Amino acid sequence: MLDGVVMALILGMMFILGAVFGSFACCQAWRWRYHAKGENDLGQWSVCLHCKKRLHWYDNVPIISWLVLRGRCRYCHGKIGLADFASEIGLAIAFFMLSWAYLVPILQNWNILALHPLFLTLQVAVFVITLILLVILTVLAVYDAKWGELPTVLLFLSVIVGAMVAVLKMYILSLSESGDFEGGALSLAGGVLILAGTCFVIYKASGERLMGGGDWILALALALALSDWWLSLWTIFLANLLGDVVALPKALGKKKHVVYFGPFLVTAFVIVLILGNCLPLLMIAWK
Ligand SMILES: [Zn+2]
Repeated sequence: MLDGVVMALILGMMFILGAVFGSFACCQAWRWRYHAKGENDLGQWSVCLHCKKRLHWYDNVPIISWLVLRGRCRYCHGKIGLADFASEIGLAIAFFMLSWAYLVPILQNWNILALHPLFLTLQVAVFVITLILLVILTVLAVYDAKWGELPTVLLFLSVIVGAMVAVLKMYILSLSESGDFEGGALSLAGGVLILAGTCFVIYKASGERLMGGGDWILALALALALSDWWLSLWTIFLANLLGDVVALPKALGKKKHVVYFGPFLVTAFVIVLILGNCLPLLMIAWK
């Protein structure tokens, strides 16, 4: 059994871990960019990208430093992008909420689950691999937001990791007596069709103007990880809604402004993943 204090401590640590990984993901996006351009790595990851000054540890604390410095370098006042802050706070919230939805129930039912080691291992694996996927997706979203590209290697990595989540979820369904394996497999296929299919059709139909070739592969990774047609439908709906809200003012302001869809897909996915897992829990808590 798990008491409230221990649970709060675990969730707090997961929040901090998420923030650290958000910061890490942002650095990885920059590193990937430097490698892609054939430029030398910055060597140290704690360097201002404008003045190349080394940052002190206290200027490198995820979330807090950005807020204290108001998104600017202490020395040259060069802007530290909003993407850094968004990925830190986004992953922190995602790690926190998903731990509440996945990890806490596992820990609370540890004694019962320990009687079924395979089931327990699979549940923990889904949780951990989902978090790994979130970090990869954050690198992709930051890269796409900054440079309008989705690195191919990272795209395929996200599909492989998404497929791992799907296989594990289907395996869990096939193990549990109450689980509806065929229904689950149908839902997974439907989700892939809805999410990746829609992006592929828009990509082809618009002659690559509205959507890049990488977007439907990214959507495929998301659909696999969700393994649910209803959540996939919400993701594509929400991604378009977010895209419209952000893109419309820009499109009206500037003549030619290309908006990249990747960050919206990833943001929508994270929101749907959190709500899809936490809303049922909230409903129970409310009653
Ligand atoms: Zn600077």
